[in-house]
Amino acid sequence: MNSIEKLIQIFSQFPGIGPRQARRFVYYLLTRANGTLDELSENIKDLKNDVVMCADCHRFFELQHKNKDYNDGHCKCKICIDQSRDHSILMIVQRDVDLESVEKNGGFNGIYFVLGGSVPIMEKEPEKRIRIKELKIFIDKKIKDGLKEIILGVNWNPEGENTADYVRKQIEPLLKNTQSTSAKLRRDEVKISHLGKGLSMGTELEYADSDTLKNALRNRS
Ligand SMILES: [Zn+2]
Repeated sequence: MNSIEKLIQIFSQFPGIGPRQARRFVYYLLTRANGTLDELSENIKDLKNDVVMCADCHRFFELQHKNKDYNDGHCKCKICIDQSRDHSILMIVQRDVDLESVEKNGGFNGIYFVLGGSVPIMEKEPEKRIRIKELKIFIDKKIKDGLKEIILGVNWNPEGENTADYVRKQIEPLLKNTQSTSAKLRRDEVKISHLGKGLSMGTELEYADSDTLKNALRNRS
């Protein structure tokens, strides 16, 4: 495969990009000066060096200070380490862009978990689509730290609903089974709510405005 076809194939795998658009990207790049292309490839390389995944919420974030703590693979983002936030409320979102949108517009002061995708209807292997295993570990840890509410912050569309149903079924047993009575009491107090009620059908969190998001948060149930 030549360089043009190879790059077209890579771009075709981007979200929302088809082969025709991918081809246009490649020809666009060919018309750019060499300096621009060098800068672009440098930026792409830096992306993996400067950006890491948070060990808790699993969002991607840019490292501000490189030090030993950040290189052991267990670094946490500034939301997760912020003690002024309410760590007893956890919002589960589908993608990083959803977290950014809620963070910017929602007036939400809890913590997050990013699933990294969604579960299409009739999906046979949902566990391969989202970070469900990581979510369960995180919730289990957070229950012991006093978690009180889990908000399913999914898009208000059929795929978002399907994702929410799957997540709910997976996490509900975590809120019940336990060995000790004191831990059981704590688990029973964890409530699962849904952000969808305050959104209109078809709303994607990424594009929701500030009023819509604040309203959805207020009316969650
Ligand atoms: Zn985090």
